[in-house]
Amino acid sequence: MRDLPAPQAFGAEAPERAVKGIRPELFAVAGFVALAACTPESSKEIPIASLSALDLAQGERLQVAASTTIVAEVLAHVGAEDIVLTTTFPPGADPHEFEPTPREIERLSQTDALFVSGLGYETVLQRTLVEAGLAPRTLALSEGLAPEVDPAADPHVWLDPRNVMIWVDNAAMALSALDPDHADDYARRALAYRGQLQELDGRLEELAAQLPSEDRKIVADHEALGHLAARYDFEIVGSLIPGPSSAAEPSARDLAELQSTMQADGIRVVFITSLGNRSLAERMAGDSGARLVQLYVESLSEPGGPADSYLKLMEYNLAAIVEALSLP
Ligand SMILES: [Zn+2]
Repeated sequence: MRDLPAPQAFGAEAPERAVKGIRPELFAVAGFVALAACTPESSKEIPIASLSALDLAQGERLQVAASTTIVAEVLAHVGAEDIVLTTTFPPGADPHEFEPTPREIERLSQTDALFVSGLGYETVLQRTLVEAGLAPRTLALSEGLAPEVDPAADPHVWLDPRNVMIWVDNAAMALSALDPDHADDYARRALAYRGQLQELDGRLEELAAQLPSEDRKIVADHEALGHLAARYDFEIVGSLIPGPSSAAEPSARDLAELQSTMQADGIRVVFITSLGNRSLAERMAGDSGARLVQLYVESLSEPGGPADSYLKLMEYNLAAIVEALSLP
């Protein structure tokens, strides 16, 4: 039986432990980035380069929690049978707003690491854990990402597969640091999954290229499709909820403005990216005659559904967008 991981200190004290086996220049860079990005949100995430090996008993596996089903899938590919993985957000929960119950907080506090996407996406979860004084070692798969679209305006970075390739690298680096005995396995699986993501990205690029440039205008329920649009060359014309979280409320004036923009641009589709916004979108569709098209953005579908893996989710979304925008 090994000791449970000590609760991590957050903020300025966090990455000060001596680190073995990490090149000093890497550590210096990670420390600098952590300081530079020291907002209340990011300060509870630990730089991956600051991790050191856990004292795992023979045959004992890492206990890993993931925030979303998509974060979990990346960890499942890289960690496979070498980790014990749990997913925190149930399918259909709104990750922007998800607040864990006391029991979930307790369970999360006992894991070796909690992986989040980061960049402010799981703010409510992370804040709740810190406030309870029970935050586990928290690692952001998006660490080091420098996306084209500002993640403060749109944190849904996984809709660009190139960002998920960086997630895969970060997952392998973090799991290897915590559990160096399986480092080769983590690296081998990361490479294989990265190859699948590369092929996916090529397929999606071809699919998106079928659409004429004048049809590439997107309106969504909230600011969720920015990274997809930047990667596959779509233009975001507006959102029903003008913000990075699906939980905000638009004003009547915002909606009226968006409707007139849509009319002027001949846009007759609104993409639904979050389960919470359906009624607002239906009201708007009723007024403007726009069609609603459901995408999978915050979560995979239930097993057996049309988007029960990340690869299927991306293919489903791109196909749905191209089809919807192709219709007259
Ligand atoms: Zn969202």
